[in-house]
Amino acid sequence: MDMQVAKKKLSLKEKYKLLTRDLGWDTTYHTKDEVFPYVQYEGIKIHDWDKWEDPFRLTMDSYWKYQAEKERKFYAIIDAHAQNNGHLNITDARYLSALKIFLQAISPGEYAAGKGFARMGREFPGVGTQVACQMQSIDEIRHAQTQIHALSNYNKFYNGFHAFADARDRMWYCTLPRSFFDDALSSGPFEFMIAIGFSFEYVLTNLLFVPFMSGAAYNGDMATVTFGFSAQSDEARHMTLGLECIKFMLEQDPANLPIVQGWIDKWFWRGFRLLGVVGTMMDYMLPKRVMSWREAWNIYGVENGGALFRDLARYGIRPPKGWDDAEKGIDHMSHQFMLALYQYNFGTAFHSWIPSEDEMEWLSKKYPDTFDKYYRPRWAHLSKLKAAGTPFANMGLAKLCQTCQIPTVFTEPDDPTSLCQRETEYKGEKYHFCSDGCQHIFENEPEKYIQAWLPMQQLFQAPINGDLGAWMNWVSLIPGRDNGDFDGSEDERNFAAWRQQATSNQ
Ligand code: FE
Ligand code: ZN
Repeated sequence: MDMQVAKKKLSLKEKYKLLTRDLGWDTTYHTKDEVFPYVQYEGIKIHDWDKWEDPFRLTMDSYWKYQAEKERKFYAIIDAHAQNNGHLNITDARYLSALKIFLQAISPGEYAAGKGFARMGREFPGVGTQVACQMQSIDEIRHAQTQIHALSNYNKFYNGFHAFADARDRMWYCTLPRSFFDDALSSGPFEFMIAIGFSFEYVLTNLLFVPFMSGAAYNGDMATVTFGFSAQSDEARHMTLGLECIKFMLEQDPANLPIVQGWIDKWFWRGFRLLGVVGTMMDYMLPKRVMSWREAWNIYGVENGGALFRDLARYGIRPPKGWDDAEKGIDHMSHQFMLALYQYNFGTAFHSWIPSEDEMEWLSKKYPDTFDKYYRPRWAHLSKLKAAGTPFANMGLAKLCQTCQIPTVFTEPDDPTSLCQRETEYKGEKYHFCSDGCQHIFENEPEKYIQAWLPMQQLFQAPINGDLGAWMNWVSLIPGRDNGDFDGSEDERNFAAWRQQATSNQ
C-alpha cells in the first residue's frame, strides 16, 4: 500500500515570503538604476530594500477574499437602499450638499490615488513595497467605484450629482483637492508616499471617514455609511503603509531626515487646507450634527496627531511647521469657508444656505469664543439682505492662493478680523498666497507651482472669455437647478413632496 504523503500547508508568513522576496530578481541586461530611475532623484538614500516590512503581510488570495466579502455586503446594502427609496430616509435634503461635494471633490481623489499607487508599484524597487502599492492601488480604485455607485442612486432624484467629472476638472472649489493630487502625482515616489500615506490617509481620511461617516449614519444615509465602512478597513492598512514608509526612510540613512521633515511640513499644510472642506461639511451641512469640527480636531488632530509626532520624535522628526497656525485656525475655518460658499453659490453645483436659529445656537455652543463674536453678525446681516429680497451674491472674482488654490478667505492666525494674504515675486511675476504655509511651499519649488492652472484666471480665456453663461456650460452647471440657495430649490421641493407621499395618504 502506498504511503500518503501529507502535503505541507504553507503558513501565511511563508506564503507572503514566496509572494514577495522570491518574486524579486536581479536585472541582467540593464542596471537596477536604469530600471528604477525615479528612486534616486529625490535624494533619499536606501541601503537595504529587504528591511521594508509590510506590517500586514497580506497574500493575494487573502486580499481577494477579504475584499470580495466586503463587496458582497456593500452591494447587498446598496441594492436594498435603492429598492426601498433609502434616499427618503435622510434627515433633510440639505444633507445632499455634503454628498455632492464628496462626489465632486473626494471620490476623484480616490481614483487619482489609485493611479498614483499603480505607478509607485512600478517605481519602487523593493518587492514588499511593490506588492503593498499594488494592493493599495486596487483599494483606491475600488473606493472610487463604490462611492460612485452608492451616490448614483441619489443622482436619479437630485440635482448636482450629474457632472461630477466635469466639476472635478473645471470647478473652482474642486481644484483644491485636484491640485493636491496633481501635486502628489507629479512628485517622486517617496514624496508621493508621504503625500498620500501620511497627509491624505492619516491627516485627512481619519477625519473624513470616521466622524463624517458617523454623521452620515446620524442623518439616515445608509448608502454612505456602507461605502465608508468598506473603505475604512482599507484605510487602516494604508495609514500603516504610509507610516512604515516614513520610518523606513528615517532608519535607512540619517541624511534622509531633513528631506522627510520638509515633506511632512509641506503635506501637513496641504492636507490641512483640504480639511477646510471637511470641517464645513461637519459644522454646516449635516442637518443632524454628530460632533463639531473643533471636537473632531481635538481627537484626530491634537490627540492622535500628537501621539504620532511623539512616536516619530525618536527619529528626530518634529511636529509640522504649520501646526500652531492650524490650531489657531480651527475655530474659524468652517465659518469662513461656509460664508465663502454662500456668497458664491451661483457658481457651485450644490446648495448652501443661512443656518437656522437653532443651528446658530449649536454653533455658538460649540464655538463659544468665535461664533457669536465674528460670524453670527455676518449671518444676521446676510439674513436681512435675503429677507429684503436682495440676497448677497459676490460677483467679484476671488483672488486664489497659488498653492492650495482656495480663494484667500482665511484670516491672519493672530487676527480674525483681517484676511491673510501673502505674496512672492518670482521671475518678474507676482504670486499670491492664503497663508505662510502655502507661501513656503511655493518658495521651495517655484518652478512647479508657477505652472498651476487657476480657475479664476481661466475665466478670461477661451472658451469662456469672461462670460458667466459660457462658464456654466463649460463646467456643466445647470443654473437654477444645481446651484444657489437651498431655499426654494428643486431638491428642497422634490424631497418634501416625495417624503410626504411616502409617509402620508396624500
Ligand atoms: Fe481610499
Ligand atoms: Zn493656500
